[in-house]
Amino acid sequence: ARKPLMAGNWKMNLDHVEATGLVQKLAWTLKDKGYDESKSEAAVLVPFTDIRTVQTLIEADRLPIAFGAQDVSTQESGAYTGEISAPMLAKLNCSYVAVGHSERRQYHGEDDATVNAKAKKVIEHGMTPIICVGEGLDIRQAGNQVQYTLDQVKGALDGISAAQVANLVIAYEPVWAIGTGEVATPEDAQEVCGAIREEIGKLYDAPTAEAVRIQYGGSVKAKNVGELMAKPDVDGALVGGASLDPEEFAGIVRFYE
Ligand code: 13P
Repeated sequence: ARKPLMAGNWKMNLDHVEATGLVQKLAWTLKDKGYDESKSEAAVLVPFTDIRTVQTLIEADRLPIAFGAQDVSTQESGAYTGEISAPMLAKLNCSYVAVGHSERRQYHGEDDATVNAKAKKVIEHGMTPIICVGEGLDIRQAGNQVQYTLDQVKGALDGISAAQVANLVIAYEPVWAIGTGEVATPEDAQEVCGAIREEIGKLYDAPTAEAVRIQYGGSVKAKNVGELMAKPDVDGALVGGASLDPEEFAGIVRFYE
């Protein structure tokens, strides 16, 4: 059975001092409410400058929260000013690295080949990529959301083996639902998440499709997460704004209540 992954993508928010406060509050809230770690996995994807601090806090206090980064370089090392490599993130014990977030695609021109190269680097260094896909409003309005998203998935997975795919995470985030308060309906989320799983079954095999975790992202809140998670192919959430509020995010992590 797939364990749901509730990941908070902080985006460009919270310096390392604020990060400490948020992780502590999140841990207290989860503990206070009797968080059952067998029912979901909690993770935070933090700015690069926060990682060392968050790592130290989580490891010292053995908090039930995984952590990781929001992006990574396609390159191993060298003359790439301003970039952060997968080995650097692995050295900080990151579990997860988001790749191909729509904001990276939109503002930094990342295409499927770039996303694929980043995902491979993350895997090569023993971490789990969270590969982000999803259509914009124009494509949704034209009714092409399934085909568009499946093309992104195929591009991102090029050359990645079945065993590797079984262990990674795909996040379906329709761009029109990100930061807009306009959450996809559970049926919309299921349509595309289900199609992604089916496609992975075709590209690889049934056990791989059964194992891969597929998240939904876009205006997820504690009050709407339950109905999304009730859908068979939604295995968690990638949460932006609501992950900056520890009570709200704890409610999302404890969606099963
Ligand atoms: P919001 O939850 O703020 O809509 O952001 C979703 C997202 O982009 C997570 O990666």
